[in-house]
Amino acid sequence: MDYRLLYKAANNYEAYFIQGLLKNNLIKSQLLGENLSIGIGELPIDVIQVDILVPKNKLNESIKIISDYEKNLKYKENKIEWICKNCKEINPENFGICWNCNK
Ligand SMILES: [Zn+2]
Repeated sequence: MDYRLLYKAANNYEAYFIQGLLKNNLIKSQLLGENLSIGIGELPIDVIQVDILVPKNKLNESIKIISDYEKNLKYKENKIEWICKNCKEINPENFGICWNCNK
């Protein structure tokens, strides 16, 4: 089958995560670079980029899934949370009082 590069994941964990997302949408993907750390020596495994490839005929569909994923990621990064001084629980930005202890 003809595969095309879909996405460059920052590390193995992201690559497996995206592969899972694609799998949920019945798209079979291939990872390239997973084992590149062998022989490189000191480089930690999680800095190795992993290429994610999908079948050519699934590329457009896959790009849509990935862009939804990236939007989600940005949303999470921008979300401001606060930590309760009383019980140390994390509260969402829009909570005025702690959900756990009401302080
Ligand atoms: Zn609290």
